[in-house]
Amino acid sequence: MKVLEERIRQEGLILSDTVLKVDSFLNHQVDTRLALEIGREFGRIFADEAVTKVLTIEASGIQFAMATGIALNVPFIYAKKKKAVTLSEEVYSAPVHSFTRGETYQVSVSRKYLSPSDRVLIVDDFLATGAALVGLVNIVRESGAKLAGVGCVIEKSFQEGRRLLEEMNVRVHSLARIASMSPGEIRFIEESAI
Ligand code: 5GP
Repeated sequence: MKVLEERIRQEGLILSDTVLKVDSFLNHQVDTRLALEIGREFGRIFADEAVTKVLTIEASGIQFAMATGIALNVPFIYAKKKKAVTLSEEVYSAPVHSFTRGETYQVSVSRKYLSPSDRVLIVDDFLATGAALVGLVNIVRESGAKLAGVGCVIEKSFQEGRRLLEEMNVRVHSLARIASMSPGEIRFIEESAI
C-alpha cells in the first residue's frame, strides 16, 4: 500500500535494526483517514472469505480491526491481555511471550463471541516475531471457528512471524513489508515481487 509506505518513510523513526516507531500516525496518535483506508484495503483483500468477525488484540490493533469491521460490515472483537493467569471456563485463552517486554501474558476472548459458525479475520498493527498473532490463531482454532486469514498493517519480513504463520497454514497479507531497516534507511519488499 503505497500511501502507507510513504508515511512510514516520512514519519517512521527507526530506533534500531528491529524497532520502528510509528507513533505519530499509526499506534499512539492515529490518522483516522489512513486507518479507515487500511480497513477498506483489508476489506478488499479478504472480500472473498465471507468473514463474520474481525479479531485483534488490545490495544494497538483496535483502530484497524474497527476500520476493517466497518468495511466488511461485521463486528470486531479485541482479545484482552492479562498478567495474572486466572483462567476461567468462560474464555478461550493462549499464552503470548512478548520479546519487547520480556514477559509472558495471557490473551483471552469470551466464549460468547466466537463459535464454530464464525469465519474470522485477524488484524494487527505489526507482524514481528509472530507471538501475538500465533496466540490469536490458537484461540480461533480452539473455538472451532474458521480462520479466514491474518492482515497486518506493517510486517517486518526479516523477523520470523510470517514464516511461523505460514507453517500453520495461515493466509497472511501485510500492507507494508519491510525487507530491512537501519537508522536512516528502510527497504520495502515491492508488491510486484510478492
Ligand atoms: P510480535 O513480536 O508478537 O509479532 O509483535 C507483538 C507486538 O509488538 C505487535 O503487535 C506490536 O504492537 C509490537 N511491535 C513489534 N514490533 C514493533 C515495532 O517495530 N514497532 C512498534 N511500534 N511495535 C512493535
